[in-house]
Amino acid sequence: MDFNVSAEPPNVVEFRKEVSAWLAEQMRGHEHLRWSASWSTREDEKEYKFRRGLAEKLGAKGWLFPIYPEEYGGAGLTVDHQMVLETELFKYGLNLSHVFYTLARIVAPVLIRWGTEEQKREFLPPITRAEICVWQVLTEPHGGSDVANCQTKAIRDGDDYIVNGQKVMVGHHLPPDYLWTLVCTNPQGKRHENLGWLHIPANLPGITIQHMYLMMGIKNAVFFDNVRVPAKYLIGGENNGWKVASTHMELEHGGDGRVSVDPVVERVVEYCQKNHVGGKPLIEDDKVRDVIADIMIELNTLRRFNQRNFWHRFAKIPHPYGGVQQRYFQRTARLRNGERLQQIMGADALVQDLSVHEVVDFEYCVRSGPGQLHGGGTLDTDRLIFARRLGLGRPTQEKAPETD
Ligand SMILES: Cc1cc2nc3c(=O)[nH]c(=O)nc-3n(C[C@H](O)[C@H](O)[C@H](O)COP(=O)(O)OP(=O)(O)OC[C@H]3O[C@@H](n4cnc5c(N)ncnc54)[C@H](O)[C@@H]3O)c2cc1C
Repeated sequence: MDFNVSAEPPNVVEFRKEVSAWLAEQMRGHEHLRWSASWSTREDEKEYKFRRGLAEKLGAKGWLFPIYPEEYGGAGLTVDHQMVLETELFKYGLNLSHVFYTLARIVAPVLIRWGTEEQKREFLPPITRAEICVWQVLTEPHGGSDVANCQTKAIRDGDDYIVNGQKVMVGHHLPPDYLWTLVCTNPQGKRHENLGWLHIPANLPGITIQHMYLMMGIKNAVFFDNVRVPAKYLIGGENNGWKVASTHMELEHGGDGRVSVDPVVERVVEYCQKNHVGGKPLIEDDKVRDVIADIMIELNTLRRFNQRNFWHRFAKIPHPYGGVQQRYFQRTARLRNGERLQQIMGADALVQDLSVHEVVDFEYCVRSGPGQLHGGGTLDTDRLIFARRLGLGRPTQEKAPETD
C-alpha cells in the first residue's frame, strides 16, 4: 500500500517550496533539534528560547493553525497546506502541535467548537500565535480520574463568578497566562449538568501557584481563594462545562491525530553507533538490532493510528474509539520502549539525566513510562472509555464527543 501523496496541486507544490526554504533559513545552526522529541524544553537552555521563537514566527504567519481564518490567528489555508507544514516540520523532528508546548493544540479547537464569536476573536489569536501559555487545570486532590466530580466552586455573583477550591498535579514549569479549567457552577445540580468551563487569566487576585517537584517533573498545585472571574471567560455557556470537558479530553486523548512520530528511535540508533561493547559498536550486536526493530515497529504502528485519526478528524469521519485506541497503544508502547531502552543501554538508561525538568532523553523516557499511564486519567479510564465506545456491556454505543 502506498501512503505517499502522488500528485500535489500546483499551488500546494509552490507552498511546499516556500515552507521548505523558510524553514531551512530558520533552522540553520539548529539542526540538532531533530533530536528533540515532542513537547519538552528546558527554560534555562538556548533550545527553549529557539523553539519558543520559532513557534512565535510560525504563529505570526498564521502557520501554526493554517486552516483557521486570519481573524482567529490562522492563515485561511486548506488541510493540504497543513499537511505540507506538518511534513516539512517533521524533517526537523518537530510538529505543529509541539514546536513549543502552550496547550494551544487543545485550547484552540475547543474554543472553535464552544466559544462565542466574540470569545474566538478575543481569545484565539494570542493562543494560535503561540504568544501565551495556558495550563490545563483539571485534577483535584480527592481524585482525578472522576473529572465530573469537580469540587472547585464558581458561583455567579452579578457579572462575575467567584471561584474557590484547589487543583493539583497540573503540569508545566513555565508561568501560565491563563488557567483552562473545569468548575462546579451549580452545587445542587445533577452530575454532568452542574459544571462550567472557565478560561481564567492567571494574574487575577486570589490565585496561588505552588510547584511540586515530583519524579515526573514539576507539577503544580493551584489554589483559588475568592477569585473574581468576569463571566466573559465562561466557555460553552451556563452549566455546559461537561460537554466542553468532553471535547477537551477527546482532543487530549488521541482524537486530535497527528502526522509525525516521536523521532526517539533515531537517537537510539545514533547511541548504538557511537557506543561500543567488547570493542564493537552496539549496533552490530544482533540482539540489540532486534530490540531496535521492535521499537521501530511499534512507533510506526503508532504513527498509522495518529495519521488515521488526523484524517478522520479533518474529513469529519466519525470514529467512536479511534482516539482512545491510539492513546492506549501510545501509553503502553511507551512503557515497553522504556524497558527496551534498558535492555540496550543497561544502567545508562537510568542515570544519564535525573533532572526534574522534562528533558527528553533516554533516562526520562524510561522514568516517565509508568507515570504516563496515570497522566490525564489512568489506563483504567482508557479501558472503560474504549469499552463504552465499542458498545461493550451497555445497550448503547457511546459516540466520540464533538471536536472542532
Ligand atoms: C505526568 C502527569 C501529568 C499530569 N498533568 C496534569 C495536568 O497538566 N493537569 C491536570 O489537571 N492533571 C494532570 N495530571 C493528573 C492526572 O490527570 C491524574 O493523576 C489522573 O487523572 C488520575 O487521577 P489521580 O492521580 O487522582 O488518581 P485516582 O483517580 O484517584 O485513581 C487512583 C487509582 O484508582 C483507580 N480508580 C479511580 N476511580 C476509579 C473507578 N471509578 N473505578 C475503578 N478504578 C478507579 C484508578 O484507575 C487508579 O488506579 C497529571 C498526572 C501525571 C502523572
